Amino acid sequence: MKILVINAGSSSIKYQLFEMPQQTILARGIVERIGEPQANLVHQYNNNKHTAAVEAPDHDEGMRVILATLTAPKIGVLGQIAEIEAVGHRVVHGGEEFTASVIIDDHVLSSIERYADLAPLHNPPNLTGIRAAMHALPNAIQTACFDTAFHTTIPEKAYVYGLPYEIYEKYRVRRYGFHGTSHRYVAHRCAALLGSAGTHASIITCHLGNGCSITAVKDGKSVDTSMGLTPLEGVVMGTRCGDIDPAILFYLADKGYDIKQLNTMCNKQSGLLGISGVSNDMRNLLEHAAKGHRRAQLAIDIFCYRITKYIGAYTAALGRLDAVVFTGGIGENNAMLRHRICADQEQIGIAIEPTRNEAAQPKERLISSDSSRVKVFVIPTDEEAAIAADTFQLAQQVNKS
Ligand code: ADP
Repeated sequence: MKILVINAGSSSIKYQLFEMPQQTILARGIVERIGEPQANLVHQYNNNKHTAAVEAPDHDEGMRVILATLTAPKIGVLGQIAEIEAVGHRVVHGGEEFTASVIIDDHVLSSIERYADLAPLHNPPNLTGIRAAMHALPNAIQTACFDTAFHTTIPEKAYVYGLPYEIYEKYRVRRYGFHGTSHRYVAHRCAALLGSAGTHASIITCHLGNGCSITAVKDGKSVDTSMGLTPLEGVVMGTRCGDIDPAILFYLADKGYDIKQLNTMCNKQSGLLGISGVSNDMRNLLEHAAKGHRRAQLAIDIFCYRITKYIGAYTAALGRLDAVVFTGGIGENNAMLRHRICADQEQIGIAIEPTRNEAAQPKERLISSDSSRVKVFVIPTDEEAAIAADTFQLAQQVNKS
């Protein structure tokens, strides 16, 4: 069965075409700069790469470009678009309602629209992508896979904030958590790597990319996570501040900052970029720090320190720790930062083995020493594969009924 996985952002659509159940990737790519006079297509297929300037004034046209590319004579991998039996969509916010991936119907569409209130930057473009795919592939099964779904198992004591309870009742202000598809994928892979002990393991998964979040997983379920009502809470990220004293915002409001400025400051001008003053990109920061840039080094120090603190807090929350997983662009690729985050943690049973940690292999692997009580893994995330697997399962249920 051919399944197309779509991740639609405000000005881009990323896609991956899978052959299931083998999980073979037939093609992947992105249409970016949607809405601009000239959009850009990057299409990868059979170890080839095709780039082109394309016309995509809106998402419908972006989707048309993708489907035309997938069926194009030389660079295409499909005879006709009707071969695509199902489309799996990444959707950021599913509120409290969606605890797993679902087949999209009118009710699901209106719920995604309703939760746009909680994720104004993400749900509207996700919805636009879904509508464009429904339009272009009216006979395919369409599914929604929510970033929040994996975290719906978090207990009340971890998701209710210390605000008046009616704020939760009235506005559903609570911890939702994000990156759920990634945390679920790597936690399940980690459980598999742990063997028979995996099913009931206590695991901390660290998704460290541009956005970063840490999740505590017990018996395969998320029991706490660092992102909150929005992806702003938690550790320090590329441009997001992570945990701060909320009174800072009142203080700055008194100094004349308005809500819009504070929102932009916390989401777009803080984190690694704000502290260093040079970049939100970890690779750039490491280069600057190596040349002696003090604030680049400070940003890196704060980044590592906050993650270590979360690992400590979640170890206590879980009551015991069996494994730590590193994933995401930073977590997968940087041995030095993994080492920094885990340094001096022998007390809680974490000991990294330098040779394993530094082995440059882009695949799942153990990086802790044989004597480390807690196993530490690098597990490359694969949200698209997880979405394809969910979509395949849902499509099979439909086909059987
Ligand atoms: P996104 O969250 O947008 O999916 P990624 O997971 O690709 O992003 O992570 C992007 C981050 O990973 C960037 O800060 C980038 O600098 C960082 N990164 C990628 N490779 C390395 C590396 N070898 N060392 C340090 N950081 C890296």
